[in-house]
Amino acid sequence: MDYNHLAELLFPNITETPEDMEKRFPRRELPEGAVVSRFAPSPTGFVHFGGLFPSTVAERLAHQSGGVFYLRIEDTDAKREVEGAAEGLIKTLATYGINFDEGAILDESGKISDKGAYGPYKQSKRGAIYQTFAKQLVREGKAYPCFSTEEELDELAQINKKEEIKNTDWQAEAESRRAKMLAQRNFTMEEVEAHLAQGHPFVVRILAGGDAEKKIKFTDLVKGTIEFPENDEDFVLLKSDGIPTYHFAHAVDDHLMGTTHVIRGEEWLPSLPKHVQLFSYLGFKLPKYMHIAQIMRLDENGNKKKLSKRDMGANMDDYTRMGYCPEAVCEYVMTLLNSNYEEWHAKNMDKPYTAFPFSVKKMSVSGCLFDFNKLNDVSKNILSRMTAEEVYEKLSLWANEFDPEFGKALAEDKEKAVKILAIGRGGKKPRKDLATWADAKPYMGFFYDEFFKMEDSYPAGFECDDIKKTLASFLETYNYADDMNTWFGKVKAIAESLGFASDMKAYKANPEAYKGNVADISAFIRVAVTGKQNAPDLYTVMQIIGEDKTRARIESAIASL
Ligand code: GLU
Repeated sequence: MDYNHLAELLFPNITETPEDMEKRFPRRELPEGAVVSRFAPSPTGFVHFGGLFPSTVAERLAHQSGGVFYLRIEDTDAKREVEGAAEGLIKTLATYGINFDEGAILDESGKISDKGAYGPYKQSKRGAIYQTFAKQLVREGKAYPCFSTEEELDELAQINKKEEIKNTDWQAEAESRRAKMLAQRNFTMEEVEAHLAQGHPFVVRILAGGDAEKKIKFTDLVKGTIEFPENDEDFVLLKSDGIPTYHFAHAVDDHLMGTTHVIRGEEWLPSLPKHVQLFSYLGFKLPKYMHIAQIMRLDENGNKKKLSKRDMGANMDDYTRMGYCPEAVCEYVMTLLNSNYEEWHAKNMDKPYTAFPFSVKKMSVSGCLFDFNKLNDVSKNILSRMTAEEVYEKLSLWANEFDPEFGKALAEDKEKAVKILAIGRGGKKPRKDLATWADAKPYMGFFYDEFFKMEDSYPAGFECDDIKKTLASFLETYNYADDMNTWFGKVKAIAESLGFASDMKAYKANPEAYKGNVADISAFIRVAVTGKQNAPDLYTVMQIIGEDKTRARIESAIASL
């Protein structure tokens, strides 16, 4: 067979050669050890938490080594593409500190454009590049066309569907598939010419040279050394519209764009035999690979399950809506990715997570477990270390979008809000009330009349009369100008006058001798003023709420008792 002639028949419009491509995309000149990595999503909707994982690793390794991190949009499956998804993806990733040096970027008008010398970075715009390499493989007898009429394609789709349902005898099915595949390798030039003359579509398949009985040893940077069979499947390189499959595009793009580390989800591990063969056929140096474990979650029965698209926390937009600070999510991702992150962080509290020396060796080989409680812990720590002013700014941004009523209240009196947020801040053991911005209103809403409500009842086991008397006495002696000690002295005096212990030691030594203690008295006042049994320091609360409102709340509490 004259393969040169075959290549010309199939690709008459491709005039460039692989050598031309190598000239157009020269090797990168980077210092020794610099990692070139990429994130290569198929933008079919939202950014999945599982996608933040490989992209964080890729970003860290590139930027930590003085390399390049770029974004390639893998939009070769037009059916799955969602309008605007790529734009949304770039914005979301930027929120989580994933910034690209090169590739598809958003220009000022919010449209995707290219930055860098290795583009286009959208695969749908690289058709001629892939075809140049496909033509070369045909010329070398390593790839061949496979024609189908529309009717045949329809028929095939039907058969595939039926076969999926049956799936009874795997062995027989595999053999019949293989026989069909091998039969397609046999054709004459006349047949090709006839098909082309009739305008029949064709796909280009690799002529698999592998022997599935033979094993290849391969070292994945995360998984370690693995063995897999050589590829013996004539998989499709170019679809009938001239657009490549993932496998072919991966080899061509990662080679031309100079990727040193392919960092991707472990679901691609079974495709490695195909990729190894392709790189070898194309004469490309195989990059290093890292297959990142999938994110798991525990189901209701405590079994590990893949974090699926529909699970809470899968969509990165969930975090924005729930009011998680991006820093918290990023730090949580680091704790999941590197087993020594927490230890490092404990010693380097003042440093950002980007200062952590990320190590491939400390990565989890099996699935990481997603856990909201852990995320909340990480988040509470981060929020507790922010200044009240910083919390105010971030909380306001969130509230304006997701709880405008609350946002309005915050904006109306910034000084008051900052005072509230300053309670228990600073010092060695700051309060940790907030894990998300959505926690703020339940925590501090009572400071505002419009959100104040009697959420909790008074502590149980006390006479209503004692509660009433406590509140009445408090009103009688309350003076806004009192300092904290004087204020507390008055609360103690009320306790004593009602037969409650003012001294906790005395109470503990002989609890039967009292109706209760000063903490109970404080609790009565706390519920009346805040509507809650748990609230920050009561003296400070009253100072912020102000004398009139404090009195009004206590009066109305007495009236309702
Ligand atoms: N487009 C592929 C995906 O979204 C990329 C995998 C890779 O990083 O090579 O899964």
